[in-house]
Amino acid sequence: MNKKYYIIPIFIPHRGCPHDCVFCNQRKITGLDTEITEEEVVEIIEKNLNTMQKDSIKEVAFFGGSFTGLDISTQKSLLSIAKRYKDNGKIHKIRLSTRPDYIDCEIIENLKGCSVDIIELGVQSMDNDVLIKSNRGHDISDVYHAVDLIKKNDFELGLQMMVGLVGDTKFKSLFTAKEFIKLSPNLVRIYPTLVVKETYLEELYKSGEYEPLTINKTIDYVKDILMLFEYYDIPVIRIGLQPTDNISLNKDVIVGPFHPAIRQIIESKIYSDVLEMFIDENKFKSKELIVSLNNKYVSNFVGFKGENLKKLKQNFRVKILGTNSGDEIIINDGTDKYKLNRKYFTERYLAEHNLI
Ligand code: SF4
Repeated sequence: MNKKYYIIPIFIPHRGCPHDCVFCNQRKITGLDTEITEEEVVEIIEKNLNTMQKDSIKEVAFFGGSFTGLDISTQKSLLSIAKRYKDNGKIHKIRLSTRPDYIDCEIIENLKGCSVDIIELGVQSMDNDVLIKSNRGHDISDVYHAVDLIKKNDFELGLQMMVGLVGDTKFKSLFTAKEFIKLSPNLVRIYPTLVVKETYLEELYKSGEYEPLTINKTIDYVKDILMLFEYYDIPVIRIGLQPTDNISLNKDVIVGPFHPAIRQIIESKIYSDVLEMFIDENKFKSKELIVSLNNKYVSNFVGFKGENLKKLKQNFRVKILGTNSGDEIIINDGTDKYKLNRKYFTERYLAEHNLI
């Protein structure tokens, strides 16, 4: 049985970052506006360890800000705390997130010495025009350079992208996803752009120079991006900012495609598209269908607010059994059994939409 995996998140608000990306107010996003001390890092780790199953994998992750933009002695002192726990076997991995232009040979050597395992790069876009309009202060050549160093030194690589930035389009977002795929990251995060209070984006929005994506457009963009990553077996470990007390509409998020269940909505849409192709391709011999699939896929199959099932029930009487143990979806029409091969239909969808 797979061991439980825990992440101990340590947020480094704006610290280490002299930049002002138009969408960013790290203090709002992390919910913190003071700097973190070494004592607090120990306290956070200890507090979390106390709540975790003994026989589990534990990771300390430094999120927010730009970790490797901190002066090297601060990086060392924060990381050495995590390393001490790793050396004692109390945690197993160390992760951090940073900017692509804050990776060079000296930084990489230091991270190796501190036993860091995973480096996530906040890339946001692989389109230079979008990067300029977002005031990122780096371009795509920094991304290729950082990825090269990270991979050559055997770190696990995470890449983060945003959709709906200033100047972004669906085509540009898909281009970013395709460039990511070429860089073969171990994991990806996708963040739809939100207008957060006290950011330059707020001013752009208020002056009418920026219009955020609607939720429907976001679902449309991210669905195709997610299918691409899935097709190339690249795990997407997060879609959208984690809802917190402040990260929600009418709090620190002024406007934008924020939805606490955005991933489920997108996954359900993928099932809906795949099901439509599957039904189109198979001529069932009766109107009674028994669908068996792994319990963990049932809610996406049924769809957000049951929409996929409602659609299916317009033409069939359907019984769903969450009994399979693997990834297969089997549909029985009383005479024959049909296997829904997700990979095959994903490929068909991507080919029909000229995405591969
Ligand atoms: S580099 Fe990161 S922390 Fe710095 S302003 Fe941009 S998004 Fe915020």
